[in-house]
Amino acid sequence: MRLGSGPLPDRGGSGLRVTPILWRPSPNCGARRGGVLPDMIVLHYTAMANCEAAADRLCDPAFEVSAHYLIGADGAVIQMVDEALRAWHAGAGQWAGAGDVNSRSIGIELDNDGRGPFPAAQMRALHRLLPGIMRRWAIGPDGIIGHSDMAPDRKSDPGPLFDWQGLARLGLSVWPEATPAPALPVDGAVFRAALERFGYGPDLDDDLLLRAFRLRFRAGVDGPLDPVDMAMATDLGRRFVVDRAAAGA
Ligand SMILES: [Zn+2]
Repeated sequence: MRLGSGPLPDRGGSGLRVTPILWRPSPNCGARRGGVLPDMIVLHYTAMANCEAAADRLCDPAFEVSAHYLIGADGAVIQMVDEALRAWHAGAGQWAGAGDVNSRSIGIELDNDGRGPFPAAQMRALHRLLPGIMRRWAIGPDGIIGHSDMAPDRKSDPGPLFDWQGLARLGLSVWPEATPAPALPVDGAVFRAALERFGYGPDLDDDLLLRAFRLRFRAGVDGPLDPVDMAMATDLGRRFVVDRAAAGA
């Protein structure tokens, strides 16, 4: 490994503390199809035993997977694919009308086995990494999504333990208002329409859509669609409307 894109400034810190980026190139990448630029960032967990095993996998041509960045549990940041190129992390699915999410996104893997919490050092590294990517590609906070948002039938990462609300507090993701409006009845069609405006794919059945939404916004909540789901989804669909024409949908 060698030092790559240079140090990352520490958000809100003294400016002296930096996270170096290690550069470990993966052969698993190519040109972004159709010349599109990334307008979303997809967050993952590796579900591997450790960071080294994940890095090996993401750089192994036999597995045909990769990501732009891998963040270790200790906060070390490894870059594997140039941001201008198409990494292979998203697979089948869609978000905001875009089917080829790999061409439209930057992929970040977090070293996590899918069962334990994300250590503070790892989250701090993510918080320092995201603003630069967002600035370089003009990606707004509503463009930061989970793998489970775009492929809910196959994927549940970064999972229920990931702190989306903390990310949103830093302007690195979005979080909905959860105040149920008395005049807002529980209505699956309204729920679906709101979440499709926000970005979820139109081909998800009702249960899958509710499960994907709750995995990100109401982890641990079970049972049928309720007024809080309605309030949160309606707020997302009102404030963060995706531009499907821009996505070529
Ligand atoms: Zn994933």
